[in-house]
Amino acid sequence: MSDRRADIVAPGGTIGILGGGQLGRMTALAAAALGYRCHIFCPEADCPAMQVAAAATVAAYDDGAALDAFAAAIDVATYEFENIPAAGVERLAAKVPVRPGVEPLYLAQNRVREKDFLNRAGAPTAPYMAVGDAVELAAALDEIGRPAVLKSAAFGYDGKGQVMIDAASDAGEAWAEMGGGAGILEGFVDFAMEISVVLARGLDGAVAAYVPVENRHRNHILDVTVAPARIAPELAAEATAMASRIAAALDFVGLLAVEMFVTRDGALLVNEIAPRPHNSGHWTIDACATSQFEQFVRAVCGLPLGDPERHADAEMTNLLGDDIAAWPAILAEPGAKLHLYGKRAARPGRKMGHVTRLMPRRGD
Ligand code: AMP
Repeated sequence: MSDRRADIVAPGGTIGILGGGQLGRMTALAAAALGYRCHIFCPEADCPAMQVAAAATVAAYDDGAALDAFAAAIDVATYEFENIPAAGVERLAAKVPVRPGVEPLYLAQNRVREKDFLNRAGAPTAPYMAVGDAVELAAALDEIGRPAVLKSAAFGYDGKGQVMIDAASDAGEAWAEMGGGAGILEGFVDFAMEISVVLARGLDGAVAAYVPVENRHRNHILDVTVAPARIAPELAAEATAMASRIAAALDFVGLLAVEMFVTRDGALLVNEIAPRPHNSGHWTIDACATSQFEQFVRAVCGLPLGDPERHADAEMTNLLGDDIAAWPAILAEPGAKLHLYGKRAARPGRKMGHVTRLMPRRGD
């Protein structure tokens, strides 16, 4: 392996971030604490990340001239969400290191590619089949059985484009409801729990994983994360090992979240991966020695990773849409830590902020 120390970006350097949402915002805040500057590239002005960053480019993700100027202004690049055209990231990667690189992004952008990769990497998933039209869907339903979940293969996010298919559903209607395009049919997992593992992997291959956490969803959007997940230590170790295997298979550098189902008989099935900070890692800001955002900055800049150990157990609750109106009560609550993202319009389901409540470590 080549000497990758040359690729270290020391504090004082500039991190370019594609995407300007709350993940970029919290990354920029953590980067600033370590003496870095962040340059946000996002099509919308006054996005959450730009409000707290040193520099900004407002341009489309496929604007070649803007990407070239961005590359010239930064020392290393990363991204904070998946729905960025891979071609733009490739253009950037020709000029400046992009961590975690184009491949994880490419995989995360398509559920079929992602699941093909996961199974190759030894991480089992629910049974699935790619489907291109209503006829293929009917055939896949015969193969996989019901109930099943039809999802759009591309650019899925927080349950958008998902259709539940039960014994009574009509394949043609389900196909129309999904909205067409390429699809994936997945066997429905009657899970006991949803968990995730967030880990960082450094330039040298070192891995620092947070304890697996338990995620509860409301309308397909993360509602509450409980840290740590209430699962047996052996299962927690298995989940962590599986996430590490996935990261190693990608020679990943950065922050990786792996969402998994725990089946009723105690097996793990991976649902999806996110090659970036993750909503289920927000609790680490207040409960761990090193937050997921600091860890992300360390990994992307080639620094040694920090200690992922927690000093408290935690429960993180998302504030969606009008939930944000509760901010005065949250501020008045002892032990509650409020985080707001600076978004002006509280549309239903929009992630406006989160609150983390700490509690003594179980078993301590
Ligand atoms: P996704 O968009 O794939 O992250 O799915 C959002 C949520 O839908 C998941 O967190 C699960 O709660 C649920 N879900 C997705 N896929 C399945 C599946 N194959 N079986 C059961 N529930 C699922």
